[in-house]
Amino acid sequence: MNKIYVDNAATTKMSKTAINAMLMHLEEDYGNPSSLHMVGQLANESMVKAREQIAACIGADPKEIFFTSGGSESDNQALLTAFEWGKRNGKKHIISQKTEHHAILHTLKKLEKQGFEIELLDVDGEGNVTSEQVRSAIHEDTALVTIMAANNEIGTQLPIKEIAAVCKEKGVLFHTDAVQAVGHIPINVKEIGCDMLSLSAHKFHGPKGTGVLYVRKGLMPSCLIEGGAQERGRRAGTENVAGICSMAAAIKEAVDKIPENTPKLIDMRNRLINGLLEIPHTILNGAKSNRLPGNVNVCFEGIEGESLLLLLDAKGICASSGSACTSGSLDPSHVLLAIGRPHEVAHGSLRLTLSEENTVEQIDYIIKSTKEVVEYLRKMSPIWQDLQEGKRKYVIQ
Ligand SMILES: *Cc1c(COP(=O)(O)O)cnc(C)c1O
Repeated sequence: MNKIYVDNAATTKMSKTAINAMLMHLEEDYGNPSSLHMVGQLANESMVKAREQIAACIGADPKEIFFTSGGSESDNQALLTAFEWGKRNGKKHIISQKTEHHAILHTLKKLEKQGFEIELLDVDGEGNVTSEQVRSAIHEDTALVTIMAANNEIGTQLPIKEIAAVCKEKGVLFHTDAVQAVGHIPINVKEIGCDMLSLSAHKFHGPKGTGVLYVRKGLMPSCLIEGGAQERGRRAGTENVAGICSMAAAIKEAVDKIPENTPKLIDMRNRLINGLLEIPHTILNGAKSNRLPGNVNVCFEGIEGESLLLLLDAKGICASSGSACTSGSLDPSHVLLAIGRPHEVAHGSLRLTLSEENTVEQIDYIIKSTKEVVEYLRKMSPIWQDLQEGKRKYVIQ
């Protein structure tokens, strides 16, 4: 059976360009970039070029690019940087919001144990926060505001430019987790006006285990990993040269293709949303229009997301019920709870995240299959029976 991969928010398939770059550098750039001889210097030159290319793709200066092992590490390093900056400046309050990735939320928990005050803003029914909410939350003691550019589960894009402007006005650091945004929507750090930004290669057809923390000139990133003097002493460890060069090739390709891919993705996304919403008692999660081009997330009443996924998998459809990090746990998604879905509804969620490789034929097959599977599962569900017989009230009309 042909498989249909629609879990691109969890990870993407590497592009041919990224694979070729990786192989080329694995074979030729085996040197340690810190070595002074020819082989080492060749690897160093490749890394210099990659840094320039990545910087150009997000409107940064190469000196503002710090290589990491991916989105989670970048988020951790950004928060540590703000924590230490705050301690130096006598500030210990951090503002974030409830639907952030766990790489942010769990790190904030850790900083809370170390004496910081953490404030998580509520989101509205579409998963949005406003710059006015941020403005009212900022006080004398605030060191950092960290708000993601786009949500990994429900695809909502947040107003980071407006939020960055408020932070700048108030003299507060601003970080954004742009892992779902880079390579998918235009991202320019100077236009946004952020102090720090996280990105990860495997979310835009690059390799897993490599990412970037952008840190604007004048702010020194704190050190998460101590050791050698790599990354100007801010991140020790022999660099993942092949991964970095592959990430550079992938980001260039993804950013170049945004104008071409976006309308195609939006068409497929809307077709899929409209098709799924034909299923009775189904609701869309996240923003209607202000959402990532490839993101679809819905809840079906009276269904268990896990059973839905297994049956879709049997039909060749690789989807997700939330974030890859929480699947496997029985807790419903913190994102769906934050936008106001009750527990029993949050359990019936389905996330489909498209790439430009998907086709309209696949979208129609997904709609048809999901309709069949939802109908089948509802027939067997005692909860659905109660709803039908009026013994229970529908939450989704
Ligand atoms: C995937 C993801 C991360 C984590 O990135 P890794 O490279 O897998 O560590 C962080 N934030 C968001 C929004 C993500 O989607």
